[in-house]
Amino acid sequence: MATNGASTKWSPDSWRSKPIKQVVTYEYASAVSSALTKLSSLPPIVTPTEIIKLKSSLRDAALGKAFLLQGGDCAELFSYCADDPIDSKIKLLLQMSLVLIWGSNKPVIRIGRMAGQYAKPRSSPTEVVDGKEIPSFRGDILNGFSVEERRVDPERLVSAYFHSATTLNYIRGQLASGIADLHNPLDWGLGHVRDEQLQTKYSKIVNSISDSLRFMRTIGADTAGQLQTVDLYTSHEGLVLEYEQSLTRRLRHPANYTPHGSPDSKGWYNTSAHFIWIGDRTRQIDGGHVEYFRGIENPIGIKVGPSMKDDELIELLDIVNPSKEIGKVTLITRYGEDKVEKMLGGHIEAVKRSGHVVVWQCDPMHGNTRSTPEGIKTRHFESIFSELQSALKIHKQHGSFLGGMHLELTGDAVTECVGGGAGLAEEDLSLNYTTYCDPRLNEKQALELAFLVAGHYRE
Ligand code: PEP
Ligand code: MN
Repeated sequence: MATNGASTKWSPDSWRSKPIKQVVTYEYASAVSSALTKLSSLPPIVTPTEIIKLKSSLRDAALGKAFLLQGGDCAELFSYCADDPIDSKIKLLLQMSLVLIWGSNKPVIRIGRMAGQYAKPRSSPTEVVDGKEIPSFRGDILNGFSVEERRVDPERLVSAYFHSATTLNYIRGQLASGIADLHNPLDWGLGHVRDEQLQTKYSKIVNSISDSLRFMRTIGADTAGQLQTVDLYTSHEGLVLEYEQSLTRRLRHPANYTPHGSPDSKGWYNTSAHFIWIGDRTRQIDGGHVEYFRGIENPIGIKVGPSMKDDELIELLDIVNPSKEIGKVTLITRYGEDKVEKMLGGHIEAVKRSGHVVVWQCDPMHGNTRSTPEGIKTRHFESIFSELQSALKIHKQHGSFLGGMHLELTGDAVTECVGGGAGLAEEDLSLNYTTYCDPRLNEKQALELAFLVAGHYRE
């Protein structure tokens, strides 16, 4: 068994003594240290009260009493920090969540891959563009996509903070101003669905949701104003640890929160986002990322790919959550439609035996990326839904339940994934292929997936 170091003392920088994957090499140490000093002086982007509120909702998801919807871009760009892309993503997540509430009869917890999803792990540090080998694009937090901007620039660390804060400020403002006010009719736009049977099915769902909302408004069921706004939390992959460390603060716990086994009135909070996750490439038991993640109070995610061994998974859970707090850890499984049958059942049983209670979230995107013969990265809507269906079924077979789904999506009319009700074909991919990393579901495909999952619960 690997030595995990979990018994040694943790500090926000103890990850620095561990081996680290996806390491960043900066050219100028002084520029890095001044960026990190600046970051350390800036106020938290999110607060302990919000973080603990989310963790407590995730406890419900772990116990089968709520469903977690998490979605957003693969690589969020600084340029997406603008009103239209933010508005369309808020509206899409809201509509999807209504459909899922209708289907599952459970409250839905919404988390955006937003306001900080600026760092990308890469399979190779370099790539060849126009016959020239250049550094890979690692996300706006480190370098730029254009060929001229591939050098890592530490000032981007500070810029990431300001783009996160501005995005979240706008989200908060829009939510407070009624963007998610269910007293207003929503535009569901189902005209694109070519299949008549599907059209009818989706229209029925929409009518049923609209009727319920109208009924609640008519009888004045909204005395506490719950229909006027919703919670929307933020998340990103916690990849660039020097950034995460600078925003890790020792802060007072919310009044009603006593962490397991600690008499302290304060704890370490990652204040860059409500929820951060460890990627499938950086989850080594002895590595820097696991070391960093084990010390923070936030709810965290761990990506679980097909190479994860049963005992490795339990060891990881023991390290990041020794007190077995329910709601602390979300396991984000992403095996691929052809591997989920072989892998998920074993992982569910291993976790059960360990006594950990986790949120099981299915990411049906990352195991289903394919290239077209022309070399364009895409994903088939049918494969995505197939992995979700398998996950739903396997959880049921094992007396467990799917606690949520994790999607790469955008509120815009992109053409990056094929299939779905509009019948997008490989030939259509070039029409509006704008992702800077993985292919995302467009707004219609994402909503459709919500309809299909909701329908599954209702069957
Ligand atoms: C991602 O979520 O964009 C990602 C890189 O996923 P994974 O770590 O599962 O490969
Ligand atoms: Mn991705």
